Parts: sequence; structure tokens; C-alpha cells
Amino acid sequence: MTVAIRNVETLALHGGSFRADPTNGATQVPIYQSTSFDLRSTERADRLVNFEEIGFIYSRVGNPTQHVLEERLAAIEGGAAALALASGQAAAALSVLTLVQAGDNIVTSTDLYGGTWNFFANRLKQFGIEARFVDPADPENFRRATDDKTRLYFGETLPNPKLNVFPIREVADIGRSLGVPLIIDNTSAPLLARPIDHGAAIVVHSATKYIGGHGTTIGGAIIDSGQFPWEQFADRHRLITDPDPSYHGRIWTDIARPYGPIAYIFAVRAGLLRDLGPAIAPQNAFQLIQGLETLPLRIRQHSENAVAVAKFLSGHPKVTAVIFPGVQNGEARRRADAYLKGGFGGLVGFELKGGTDAGRRFIDALKLFFHVANIGDTHSLAIHPASTTHAQLSPEEQLASGVTPGYVRLSVGIENIEDIITDISQALEHA
Ligand SMILES: *Cc1c(COP(=O)(O)O)cnc(C)c1O
Repeated sequence: MTVAIRNVETLALHGGSFRADPTNGATQVPIYQSTSFDLRSTERADRLVNFEEIGFIYSRVGNPTQHVLEERLAAIEGGAAALALASGQAAAALSVLTLVQAGDNIVTSTDLYGGTWNFFANRLKQFGIEARFVDPADPENFRRATDDKTRLYFGETLPNPKLNVFPIREVADIGRSLGVPLIIDNTSAPLLARPIDHGAAIVVHSATKYIGGHGTTIGGAIIDSGQFPWEQFADRHRLITDPDPSYHGRIWTDIARPYGPIAYIFAVRAGLLRDLGPAIAPQNAFQLIQGLETLPLRIRQHSENAVAVAKFLSGHPKVTAVIFPGVQNGEARRRADAYLKGGFGGLVGFELKGGTDAGRRFIDALKLFFHVANIGDTHSLAIHPASTTHAQLSPEEQLASGVTPGYVRLSVGIENIEDIITDISQALEHA
């Protein structure tokens, strides 16, 4: 590529090294539906296994279609390298497990996607790893919960249902001073937020949501900023800086050195992805590449439509509260303005005067919106958490996670705004 590309709209289409298929000249990324790749010679096989040359061996740990998705995601997030995985859940899990072992702890925001919350609160215990939950409203809570065994911080840019933007810079700075990398789940605000620009060491995505957009494909990704100084905090990060017995005593920081500051992503791919195996299918990587191409256009339209929906709801007599970064005040608004650029995303929450029954009636009356436990689709989506995603929690636990009985979450799509509001308006008549 001869021209320098700096803008995300262009990077989403051209980011990375793929220009055209070198064999046939196909301009669209081919689907390399192949489990294995010709090693060509025993000598080259040696070099590949020892990381003296980087190339494809077996699709559990890397595939050319997947590689294009990885390069483009790294480009739009301003990272050094990325790893695409079978799901967002696999991305969150591997991003954490790469850095911890039994006896260690992590410090995480309380405001998390339910699947991640459950993984931290319950599953990590099985491996002897403690998750310390802290309220991100005060970033200093992260410092207070940190000790010698703390390996990472975790937060979400724009967690639903509360939709309070995470203090990325504040927590990243605390982590930098103590040697603790911040992992940010940026699923609900791709392009709007660039967590690496604000000091996040690692970004994870459920590409299932806005990146894919079409609602056809489950996938996830981890992006390595390449900026975390693992060797400077070697005592805290021995899994990255000590010889790894699972890779015949090689050290990830040494392996990565010729290729850039990407020891972490090497460790995820050649360590946990190799051992646990949640590889993304080439077909799914291809689908997500198609989605990514139009992400800059879509995220703008989602954001624009969401602002209009929030405005409509704010004036409605049956609505007691609207939860949306664009209508917040004070510190929450300051963070939204500091970390979200060009829009507040497509998620809008609101509370109905009539509580649970009104929430159910609203959902059942929708005609355009789909009733699904998903976000980030091009189509408008709605859910009533108290009767679905949060139904297993006690009323107190629901409240703590921001879910009141009459809370409804909308993932506003890219349909014409007039039709979106017509549907919300008629459903509110039944609520
Ligand atoms: C959906 C989601 C996940 C999990 O992703 P999957 O692709 O469904 O596995 C993780 N984090 C957030 C914020 C999500 O919305």
C-alpha cells in the first residue's frame, strides 16, 4: 500500500496487509476453508514451529481469512496485533486466563455483561482465581483492591443496562503505576471509543454485535495495544516473562521481539487458543469482515437514531427515566463526552411507570422491534431484563445491576427513525 491510511472508514475496508488474493487477484477476501497448510519442507516446518518465520500451520491457531479480520480490527482499534476467536465470550475468557493462575486475583468493574459477570464470579473460583468486584464510579476503588497477586483490571466501555461510561484513562493510569494492565470490553462502542488511545492495554470485542451487525455470526476478538511494559513488571507477569513449560521453555517476550511488542497476543494464540481451541471458523471470519466494512456508516446511524429515540422517550408520560449517555449529567456525562466520539451508540434504556407488567406489555406489543437477548444488530431489538436476562436474580441483585422492574433495553437499529418511533409509540400505548 503506497498511501498512508489513517481514518477508520478506510481502515475498515483496507486495514492490514491484504490487498488482493496473490494467486487469482480476487479483491474480496477469500474464505480459506482449509484445516491445514502445506509446510513445504522440514526446514521451513522447524522455522514455523520455532517462530523464526510466521506462517499458517493449522486453522485452530491461525488461518488466512481470520488473519485479515485480525489485521483490520487491530487497525481500527489502534492496536499492534489481534486475535479473532469463536465468540466474544471466548475472547473475554482467554484475555483473562492468559494472565492468571491459581492463587491470583483480578479486579473488575461490577458493571459487566451477564456472561462475563458469571464467568468471573463463579467459574474463575473453579480455577482458584479470585475476582474482586469494585464500583467504577470511583476509579480509586481499583487501586484499593489491588495487591501483589493482582494480574489485571477489567471493565466495559459502555456497560448495559446502566450505560455509564467506564473511566478508562483513570483506571488505566492507576494500573500503569502498579503494573496492572487494563482490559476493556469495547463491544457496545466500536469506533466511538478507542480504549487504547486512553491507556487500555488490551481490548476485547464480541464481534457478534456491532462489528458483524447482520446478526448472522458469533465471533470475538482480542486486540493487544502493544504498549503494556510486561518486562518492566516482570514480577507481576511471570506467565508472560518467564520460560513457558508448555512451549518447551520459551519466553513469550523473547519470541515476540522480532515481530513487535506483541508478547501477550502470542501467548494467547500459541498458549490458550492452542490448548482450549475456541478458533473462529473461516466462514465466520469472512462474514465479520463483510460487517466490518460498513461499521463506520452503521454506528453513525445507530447513534443518530438512538439520540432521537432517547429524546422521544424523555417526553413521554409513561416513561419515568431514560438511561442514555446523551441525557446524563455530571460525572457520568463528562466520561461519556471524554470517551465517546461521534455518537453515544445505539443502546437506550428506559423505565416504565407501570413496572414489570408494563414492561411485559410493551415488549409483547412491539411489531417492528425484535424481542431478543442481543444487541448491535442492524434491526431494532428490545428486551425486558427483569423477566428474561435478569429473571434468575433476586430483586435486590437486579437493582444492584441497574435493572428496575419496569426497565426496558432497546438496541436501536438503522431503520428509518420515523418507523422506529412509530413502533415504540404504539407499544407504549399498551404499556
Ligand atoms: C454479547 C457480549 C459478550 C459475549 O459475546 P458472544 O459473542 O455472545 O460470546 C461479551 N461482552 C459483551 C459486552 C457483550 O455484549
